[in-house]
Amino acid sequence: MSAPNASSIREGPPCGGVVGSALRSFGEELARAGAAQSGDAFTDIPAADELIRTSPEAFLFGVLFTQGIPAERAWAGPYLLRERLGHLDLVRLAASPDQTAAAVAGPPALHRFIQTLPAWITAAARRLLDEYGGSAARIWSGGADVREVTARLLAFEGIGEKKAAMTVAILARHFGVPLAGAEHGGVAYDVHVRRVFLRTGLVEADSPRAVQDAARGVCPESPGTLDLATWLVGREWCRPRDPACDACRLGGVCPRHVDRNVEGVGARRAQSSERNSRPESSFG
Ligand code: SF4
Repeated sequence: MSAPNASSIREGPPCGGVVGSALRSFGEELARAGAAQSGDAFTDIPAADELIRTSPEAFLFGVLFTQGIPAERAWAGPYLLRERLGHLDLVRLAASPDQTAAAVAGPPALHRFIQTLPAWITAAARRLLDEYGGSAARIWSGGADVREVTARLLAFEGIGEKKAAMTVAILARHFGVPLAGAEHGGVAYDVHVRRVFLRTGLVEADSPRAVQDAARGVCPESPGTLDLATWLVGREWCRPRDPACDACRLGGVCPRHVDRNVEGVGARRAQSSERNSRPESSFG
């Protein structure tokens, strides 16, 4: 994958009120910096970060890991799995689901969902071999359209709308992948994002449609620009309890509807069944 591409960042007039403008500014700042997840990193393990940056397949597996566990732990998952298996070879992953399951289960477990996640990895390896010649980069190569890439991602077990939106946003922001149709992107309907949209008054109702419509109102030419900015505000300051409004990036303009909260239902649903292949969960 290539280095962040500042030329892909689209600047434009502020829209969506002062909160929207502030959020948009934060998103554009993160895009200019080519931010990963937290600062310039995905995880706090340098070798794991390097693997995510240099292997499109590891990046895709990392996307599968991003559910129900802290983001840094999720993105370390492919590296730790490789350490245990001794490889991330797609042919071997496709042919040996039991070995992947044992490696994920540990102890210690690499993930909260020790049955579902290995099945997703096995299915992803098989799909990459069958449809993409063993190269995950072909999912998003060749100037593909955001809608096309999203549809391809959604075909993978374990990737729903939330993960697909997050993936597209990371590809554009961090890896500088030149995707057409940025106006068709969106924000991941993550519990942090939902809480921030509610508390800032960008939405009055918590629904996927309301959040996406609001994001398009704030940044119509590239709604995905708001994704990481909103997620970071939610995780760093706009916590479910004791939000740090005075320290918050949006503190100067936000109406601070701190009594508004959302229920993070997705992770619990997946945990209870371990059968949900189209999760709408959050990761911390
Ligand atoms: S922490 Fe406070 S100021 Fe920041 S987004 Fe949440 S409610 Fe608004």
